[in-house]
Amino acid sequence: SKTSDKLSEFLESGVYRLEDSNASFIDPVRVLNRSYTRFRVSPSAYYSRSFDSKHTGQEARDSSNFRKRKRKEKKPQPLNDRERAADQRHQEVRPFLLKAHESLVRATELLEVVSNLKGNLGPSTWSPGAEQSLVELGRVWQAPLYEITLNFHPNDNAREDGGAPTIHYCEQRAFPVFNNLVVNETSEDVEAELLNSRYILPPETSFYMSDLGQIHNLIPAESDCGFNLIVIDPPWENGSARQKQRYSTLPNRYFLSLPVKQICHTDGALVALWVTNREKLRGFVEKELFPAWGVKYVATFFWLKVKADGSLICDLDLFHHRPYECLLLGLVHGKVTDSKQLSSTKPKLPDNQIILSIPGDYSRKPPIAGLLHEYAPRLQRGRCIELFAREMTAGWISWGNEPLHFQESRNFMKT
Ligand code: SAM
Repeated sequence: SKTSDKLSEFLESGVYRLEDSNASFIDPVRVLNRSYTRFRVSPSAYYSRSFDSKHTGQEARDSSNFRKRKRKEKKPQPLNDRERAADQRHQEVRPFLLKAHESLVRATELLEVVSNLKGNLGPSTWSPGAEQSLVELGRVWQAPLYEITLNFHPNDNAREDGGAPTIHYCEQRAFPVFNNLVVNETSEDVEAELLNSRYILPPETSFYMSDLGQIHNLIPAESDCGFNLIVIDPPWENGSARQKQRYSTLPNRYFLSLPVKQICHTDGALVALWVTNREKLRGFVEKELFPAWGVKYVATFFWLKVKADGSLICDLDLFHHRPYECLLLGLVHGKVTDSKQLSSTKPKLPDNQIILSIPGDYSRKPPIAGLLHEYAPRLQRGRCIELFAREMTAGWISWGNEPLHFQESRNFMKT
């Protein structure tokens, strides 16, 4: 039947288009696994936060504290201007989010699979807390000496099209791991070693691990070597990231100097920026950041976070804690003015598109590369880049001070 076709497509692709709304449910593990050849992302690692009772307990406590605090406030304070603006923004998107969530609730065949995700995780081999801190490693004086060793699989050379193998003389190669573009140009997963940790690099990926101070090294020598698709998830300052000390944050003015304009391809680029729900930040992006980058705002996508039973992670109308995050999309226009031609070949970016998924680790965003591909102007191979990345995506360059973070081998299983 029609519905089970949809479900089998979901089991294959990790994407389920929900009826009657602009929304898709995605299972990040299935989506990510489409890129790997010899390894699989371990669901118990990806979903460790949602399914680990210790963490869930913590979150429950956090929100009950919040509720207690709220109850103490006797009279609700009138909203100030900024809060009113935030509330208005929320009220505008609320109907879309509700509709998307209702469609998920109606998709019973999907929910049945999703609620079993936990049961299907299998024995958890994953243990928290043992990861190597790449950020700290990059700060020590020996950092320029550290090398990563890529172990190329003997079969990596066998190309289906019978073309010339790209690597034919050795199986192991070492590269400086910091301030250097490290490339897996093969069409196979590659295992890599750095000190005592192992990492899995998916096919056709690169990373450049450095501090923001070195980001100018990404600016291509020729502007027709730039990028058509740029995803940015900056370490915005906010209470939660600082308190939890997951990563260091930066004041907004640092992002004004990100060389977005300089890394764009001459044909133009689609820029996707994750933002937090702070109204002050939204104003900054619209009035200062996008203009400074030469980005023209086009649309907003929303990531609605749900639990394994399909319910929202928190009440939709909590003022200081929303169950969704926003992805602002904008375009940098190409140098050649053939906008007519472009608009006729490219689908128009839809507004208010909604992605539903169960969150992974703290601040880890769902894999949206595939959803954005079709909207990027003149996208070609190797022209996608993620800034402040913590993982690698097939066909993409990942830049940040810990782009290998989620590539650690303990997050994977061998197939
Ligand atoms: N999109 C990522 C994901 O889904 O996992 C999360 C990115 S997180 C919001 C921001 C990242 O920026 C963190 O990995 C943090 O270590 C990194 N970062 C913070 N300060 C930095 C700096 N000065 N230079 C480079 N990266 C930095």
